[in-house]
Amino acid sequence: MIQGLPASDGIAIGKAFVLPNWEWEMPEQLIGVGDLALEFERLYEGVKRSKHEIHKLKTEMDETVGAEESGIFAAHLAILDDPVFMNEIKGIIQRQYKAAEVAVKEAIDHFVTMFDLLDDEYMKERALDIKDVGNRLLKHLLGVPEISLPLDAQPFILVVRELTPSQLIHLKPEMVLGIVTMVGSPTSHSAIMSRAFGIPLVMGVEGKLPAPIETGDLLIVDGRSGYVHINPSAETVIRYSELRQRETETRERLQQLALVPSVTPDGMTIELAANISSIKELDAAIGNGAHGVGLFRTEFLYMDRSRFPSEEEQFEVYRQAAEKLQGKPLTIRTLDIGGDKQLDYFDLPEEDNPFLGYRAIRFSLNRKDLFKVQLRAILRASVFGNVQLMYPLIASVEEVREANALLEEARLELVAEGVACQEKIRTGIMIEVPAAVAIAELLAEEVSFFSIGTNDLIQFTLAVDRMNEHIGHMYEPFHPAVLRMLKTVVAAAKRHGVQVNICGEMAGDVRSMPIWLGLGIHELSISAQSILSVKETMLRTNAQESRFLMDELFAYRTAKEIRERLERFHAEEAIAQGHIRPGI
Ligand code: PEP
Ligand code: MG
Repeated sequence: MIQGLPASDGIAIGKAFVLPNWEWEMPEQLIGVGDLALEFERLYEGVKRSKHEIHKLKTEMDETVGAEESGIFAAHLAILDDPVFMNEIKGIIQRQYKAAEVAVKEAIDHFVTMFDLLDDEYMKERALDIKDVGNRLLKHLLGVPEISLPLDAQPFILVVRELTPSQLIHLKPEMVLGIVTMVGSPTSHSAIMSRAFGIPLVMGVEGKLPAPIETGDLLIVDGRSGYVHINPSAETVIRYSELRQRETETRERLQQLALVPSVTPDGMTIELAANISSIKELDAAIGNGAHGVGLFRTEFLYMDRSRFPSEEEQFEVYRQAAEKLQGKPLTIRTLDIGGDKQLDYFDLPEEDNPFLGYRAIRFSLNRKDLFKVQLRAILRASVFGNVQLMYPLIASVEEVREANALLEEARLELVAEGVACQEKIRTGIMIEVPAAVAIAELLAEEVSFFSIGTNDLIQFTLAVDRMNEHIGHMYEPFHPAVLRMLKTVVAAAKRHGVQVNICGEMAGDVRSMPIWLGLGIHELSISAQSILSVKETMLRTNAQESRFLMDELFAYRTAKEIRERLERFHAEEAIAQGHIRPGI
């Protein structure tokens, strides 16, 4: 067994199909002066065929997955129209008397080497695009066939050095059970597409393989943990088959709860909303019965492109999301860039402690020009649904006031321009900095709701970097300090009639349900995949008993005691509601 980077969830079991590298034989000899016109003609014909093919793929993808993913093919078309790329090819033909395919190959190598040398993930991705589209052009010039699928036409696990989006499309997603790549990052276009297709993907296994994977090898790909088993034992196959079967059954069973209200047996409701990073996640959220969106991480809208998104582009996305939700709340968090979330096209300063640095609301308040664009887009979308606004990483009252002043300025501008927007958009803040907890009373007077971002709040409360694997075991949601932080925020909010929601990962951990019930949280915002299992837990957890349990939890001195008590409580509630029979 080896471990790579988990990039798309799920378990795949099947035979490997190792995609050969596209390395073709190139003619050696030079062309004569008289053949120049012919070579140009061949080149144009190849470009024409490639474009035709890309258009077709783009249309197919628009219909199956959506315009967001098919954008990659628009980028490929742009490369074929790019005078710099095309002039490089033509120059090689004209000045060096080389055949069109040789010129294309040399141009690809030239640009790929140039982009690869840059220490910039975005440019490396562009190098992959050039390779991808260049290979398509080469294929037409050389008249070689498409990648041939395994002869038996059985679905397979694709093993490839570096996956390109058009390879994925060519291989027909329904044929691909899972994917293993030698290199690549989970933020690449192909990883994004694999997730959209629901294909388990493990990346970056190069250097970990004891021997190369061969076509026909039996593989198990576990996209959640990043494990890949090569020619596993019969017991391992049975274990994973059972696991996969259980995952399917659980999904089917839980699906029946989608329309069931999220209420405890003794009548307490906590709304279950979804965290999303893009509009395409909305369908899954709505399908799982989400009460709305409690956290729209808008930074991904900024990350998946080569420049800041315009007001119009943002407005379109927010409007569509608001409309799709049909009156259910859409909580748009303003840009939370910095820390581990960087923009390829905008150089944030190098920082020793980026999580404590120039990020989130700090960036927005420093770049009010960009911030205003986002606020205007949100305000404009506010008339198309139930839109609320949320600022990340708030640490002071001044920050809220400054952001709100800009919001009002943006609103007045829109009014003056005669553009429709809500007069009073509901505005809240993320509570994720200990300072915000300490002044929760003061902040509560400025906003309509709090959303506790436990991911950051835990790391800052415990001084444990959430990205550092050496101290990962110290990142403890059930630390007594964290419980006290939560209690302080809720108490302050209640005194001021401010609603409190939770939107960090801790909200999706079913063990914490009695904490939310005991504290009286209004809404949990979690990934679409967790909504149903959290609801199932809520349906069998008694709110009154949860309140009693809180007193006990606050008496414990260690995280271990709290965790164990919660686990016991969880089991006891399951038994009490007849989900588990004692002794089993
Ligand atoms: C959080 O910090 O809990 C949160 C939801 O924000 P993010 O994970 O995007 O930092
Ligand atoms: Mg956060």
